[in-house]
Amino acid sequence: MLATEPHRDAGAYALGVLGAADTSRFELHLVECSACVVQVREFGGVVRHLAAYARELRPGSPPPSVRRRR
Ligand SMILES: [Zn+2]
Repeated sequence: MLATEPHRDAGAYALGVLGAADTSRFELHLVECSACVVQVREFGGVVRHLAAYARELRPGSPPPSVRRRR
């Protein structure tokens, strides 16, 4: 994370893809930045949807489009 652009890591933080050092720096930034707190909450919904979709794509599961037709 660049110190001059701390806001841009909200999505990466929500996805859990930041390294340990960047996670620590971003969490310090979150304490002071309500805009990023809102972004992390919003990305949290996307992360939950992606995780649910990934579970549906596990081997042996019918494709999501087939299940929706039932
Ligand atoms: Zn911020």
